[in-house]
Formats: sequence, C-alpha cells, structure tokens
Amino acid sequence: MSTRIHTIDRHPDTVLILKRPTTDFAIWERLGDEIDSPEDDVEIGDIKAESPEIEIHYLVSSRHLMLASPRFYTMLADSNWVEGHRSDDGRYHINVEDWDEQALLVILNIFHLRHKEVPRELELEVLAKIAVLVDYYECAEVLELFSDMWIEKLRKDVMVPLIYCRDLMLWLCVALVFRLSEEFKTATLVAIRWAPGPIGSLGLPISPSTVHKLDRRRNTAIELIMATLDLWLENYQSPEYKCRVTKYNFECGAYFLGALTKGMYNTQLYPLRHVAPFEGLSFEALYAKVRGIVAMPRSLVETWDHSCSLEETVGKAVEDLAQIDGLAIDQCSGFEDGDGLA
Ligand SMILES: [Zn+2]
Repeated sequence: MSTRIHTIDRHPDTVLILKRPTTDFAIWERLGDEIDSPEDDVEIGDIKAESPEIEIHYLVSSRHLMLASPRFYTMLADSNWVEGHRSDDGRYHINVEDWDEQALLVILNIFHLRHKEVPRELELEVLAKIAVLVDYYECAEVLELFSDMWIEKLRKDVMVPLIYCRDLMLWLCVALVFRLSEEFKTATLVAIRWAPGPIGSLGLPISPSTVHKLDRRRNTAIELIMATLDLWLENYQSPEYKCRVTKYNFECGAYFLGALTKGMYNTQLYPLRHVAPFEGLSFEALYAKVRGIVAMPRSLVETWDHSCSLEETVGKAVEDLAQIDGLAIDQCSGFEDGDGLA
C-alpha cells in the first residue's frame, strides 16, 4: 500500500482519505457498439495506470469542508458519526472510496479558496467526474464561479454529441448536475432518439426516475410508429378501405398492402413484431426504415390516374410522430431521487 499526500490546508485538522480511487469511471458497455467516444481511451493524470492499492491523503480543514458541503457538515458536526471524533493523531479522519483523485483535489482546492491551484479549463471527462462529486457533496453553489467558466469554455470546444455514445451521457450528467437546461434538453432528446436499447446511467448521478422517463419516452416513440404501421396494414387489408377513386378501392388497397408489407419485410419489421424494450432498434433507425419504405417509386399507381400514396398516409403520420421533445430539467434530478416516477 502506497500513500500520496496533498496538503491543501497549512494547519490541517482533518485527513480525507481516498481509498481505491476510481479506475472504471462511467464504463460504456454496449456490446457490439461500434460508436465509441473519442475520450474513451483518455485517462486523466495517469491515475488509471497505478495500482488501486494506493491511498490518497488530503490534508484539509474541517471548517472549510463543513462550510462548503452539508454532507461534510453532518459528518463532522454530529458526534453520532465516527467521522465526528478525532483520531489518535488529533485529526478527524474521513474515508471515501471510488472518487477520482484529480476531481476531488479540484473541489477541495475550491473549498479552501486556493484558487490559483484550480484549472481554468477542463475536459468533459474531468468535468463529469467533478459533477459526480458536486452532486454527492451538494456543493454546486460553492463551485459556481468556476463551473460557469469551465462550461462556457467547454461549450466552445465540445458540442453535445448528436449520437448515443459515452460522451453524450457525460454531457447529460454535467447538464443535470450544473442545471444547464438547453444542454440537458438536447442530450436527453438525442438519447431518446438514438439509443438502440434501454438507456443506462453508467453509474453517473442520473436518478433512476430520470432514466425511467428517458426509457419510457423512447419506448413510446418507437411503439407509436409500430402501431401506425400496424394500423395502415389493417386499413389496406380491410374491405372498408376507400380509395379516392371509388372504382379502385380494391386495387389501391391491395397495392399498398403489398407495398407496405414488402417494405416492412425487407427492413426486418415484418413478420416479427418488435416489442419493448426494442433491443437493437433505435427510434432513428426505425424512422429511417419507414422513410425508405414510403419513398418507394409510385410510377405504377400513377398510371391508374389517381394520386394515393404511402407518403400521405404512413409518411405523414410518422412525420408527426417524429416531433419529440427532450426532457425538461426541472422535472429531473441527480442521485438524490426526489423527482418520483411520474
Ligand atoms: Zn387510391
């Protein structure tokens, strides 16, 4: 076991001991997924290369911790907590696990007003690691001047991705913790539209109810398109089907029933009906399949001197269903799960 010491306060009365610093932050586990984030291979400060047996000691002041974070206040001010008692060395000892060493160093430097030690720019990866700590220690306000600056700079360099990937989930976490309503709406919308299966939180502070809302909206969006396809298969099959030109009622229904069935068969949407959680099928992939089906050539029907089309039935319905919104941030929370399952 080796120890590394960060002296943050010159007269420390507290040792914050980080055991087993994280080596597996926000792991992206989608099997067979070919879309990787560029940052997937980036490690911060070479920490990952070290043995997890290392212990990091931060020498800090209990007063600064208590002022900055209600969670530290509860630990240190309440004698019922083991952390609220001094150890044999005369200092308070607080053990933590799984945090990132550099991210913890950044927030402790801010707590202790050591602003010269605080980086002016951060990569998305580090900001997400800090967001995890901010959520846990409930200290967003203390960091606000810095977090505003980091986010402002990050926005110029790294857009919210427009595909479902690890970086998207990191942005979603950062947006949620630092209450960035625009980025949150965009990130959740991309997740809803592009996730090819149930959406995972990757262990980030995204509450189960928020993940549930994302999944529910994704499932509903896909289900509505599936139901539209079913409905039009039924309509074209029905003896009640009406063409614009009455004498073609049968021919028109038969033609579009066949065209829609063949289109769905060719795109693996028929005969097997996909069901929630629609593993392997994103809303966007389904939408593209249906757009392809309705865009088929119409030369045959045009020779009948009438203008029915899949575009005006299935196509129009699907266009309307594609108007999806992301989630509103005021209905969502981080680890603290106060937003219910509504
Ligand atoms: Zn017709």
